[in-house]
Amino acid sequence: MRASQLYAPTLRETPAEAEVISHQLMLRAGFIRKAAGGIYNYLPLAWRVLKKIEKIVREEMDAKGGQELLMPIVLPAEMWQETGRWDVYGDEMFRLKDRHGRDFCLGPTHEEMVTTLIRDEVRSYRQLPLMLYQIQNKFRDEIRPRFGLMRGREFIMKDLYSFDRDEAGLDESYNKMYDAYSRVFTRCGLTFRPVEADPGAIGGKGSHEFMVIADSGEAAIVYCGGCDYAANVEKAELHPLEAPAEAPAELVLKDTPGTKTIAAVAEFLGLPAAKTVKTLAYLTDKGLVFALVRGDHDVNEIKVQNAVGAIFLQMADEASLAAAGTSPGFMGPIGVKDVIVVADATVMKMYNTVVGANEPDRHYVNVNPGRDFKPAVVADIRLIREGDPCPRCGEPVKTARGIEVGQVFKLYTKYSKALNATYLDENGQEQTIVMGTYGIGVTRTMAAAIEQNNDANGIIWPAAIAPFHAAVIPVNNADQGQRELAEKLYAELAAAGVEVVLDDRDERAGVKFKDADLIGYPLKVTIGAKAVSENKVEVKTRRGGEVHFFPAEEAVEGIK
Ligand code: ATP
Ligand code: MG
Ligand code: MG
Ligand code: MG
Repeated sequence: MRASQLYAPTLRETPAEAEVISHQLMLRAGFIRKAAGGIYNYLPLAWRVLKKIEKIVREEMDAKGGQELLMPIVLPAEMWQETGRWDVYGDEMFRLKDRHGRDFCLGPTHEEMVTTLIRDEVRSYRQLPLMLYQIQNKFRDEIRPRFGLMRGREFIMKDLYSFDRDEAGLDESYNKMYDAYSRVFTRCGLTFRPVEADPGAIGGKGSHEFMVIADSGEAAIVYCGGCDYAANVEKAELHPLEAPAEAPAELVLKDTPGTKTIAAVAEFLGLPAAKTVKTLAYLTDKGLVFALVRGDHDVNEIKVQNAVGAIFLQMADEASLAAAGTSPGFMGPIGVKDVIVVADATVMKMYNTVVGANEPDRHYVNVNPGRDFKPAVVADIRLIREGDPCPRCGEPVKTARGIEVGQVFKLYTKYSKALNATYLDENGQEQTIVMGTYGIGVTRTMAAAIEQNNDANGIIWPAAIAPFHAAVIPVNNADQGQRELAEKLYAELAAAGVEVVLDDRDERAGVKFKDADLIGYPLKVTIGAKAVSENKVEVKTRRGGEVHFFPAEEAVEGIK
């Protein structure tokens, strides 16, 4: 590829809207351009990187027996209604109607589709296990799309689904995927950590997230130097809640479909992070009512589950509520059910004055929880912090920030039951298929690679996913000797299978070097006066900046 023809419009200025380095560099180096909030064009350089990541993903999925297919993006509502997720997904789901008024959505994930797809075809234990996957654009109308490709509304995901006869089979499939994921991120040249994860909204039990370690990561993780314990902090802090003796056992908080994190609630409302939270839950005839009290910990790290039909009481200070366009006592839809916001100053009073009800636009006032509602759960939730004893071995734990690039997840029979996906076992008995779901954010992985590999001059691509391996740069294009040598090396490198860009533009050498560093080619091959007069070609590594000199006839071997 000749730089004069490469469509990579670079920017000299850092665009103001880009908060994180991967977003800034991808805009500046001409990798992406925005179409709308969280929706991007992938320009040729980005597309080359994405195809390389996809290739690695495909090879590792195939190696474990995964079979690639492609499901529709536009999905009918009925299958989502069958599992209940049409309601649970809330505003994150892009919805549309066809000309007949029928409901559809743009697929945010494909458990419903894939289960519906196989349920009528897979009938016998002989057809299991089965692993199907696709690499496809996913659509999630995120509350706040941001950080460029890290949190988009349209993004590329690899999603694989496993179908097994029983839990032992699921364990095997899960372990295969766990291994495949480790291989994918290792091959991509990333520093990552698998951590125990909270199953969150998808439901089921048993899950790991693959976290690329980076300060800009949205997730807090905790890990132990003494043993292999590592977890998403959301998971780590979920130690058993104390339930008062009179509270019925089923009121202990547990995973339920529709789980939302407080972070999601806070983010939706545009609230700043508050510190510590005390959770109080009251059982009402309308469901569980939660109240949060400010304290020492970061509210964004705290997870509270809602039983379907529960109400969140969320507090914040008046100013941030006003900024979020809401007011004390406001009740609005947030995708789960309803939310009531109570101002910070009134939070204590609130206990006696306001509680929420699971009816739109209505709430109770002047309620006395002790009198009118039975306290169900009272618990102080404390996050694990740096230096706390490891829950597994007692050694002090460390904390880090991570970017979730992938997640593996045991679903058990959550979807197969709801959608009636069964098979006949050896004895002719009908059994429910046992499932797992496994996602990798392809576009997010590209962003994470940049978050982890950059310097003041630009991107430093891990070789395996770099858009090109090398740039050949004639220092002075007007010099015939340099130009000819550069052309010759360019042709030889390409013939040797090196993906190479020849910077044949009539730009000053400084501009070409700057662009090469910005784009992040792993090798810069400089053809200057010395290359011609002394037969010395300079090869400089982008990472580490090591310089090697080769005679022109050995340069191709040296670079390969
Ligand atoms: P997050 O916690 O960041 O919202 P998630 O847990 O909702 O992600 P999954 O449902 O586990 O995401 O999807 C699988 C993978 O898809 C994630 O691990 C992530 O790499 C990627 N992904 C999810 N949401 C987005 C997004 N909005 N933009 C880009 N990639 C995403
Ligand atoms: Mg999400
Ligand atoms: Mg997540
Ligand atoms: Mg996830």
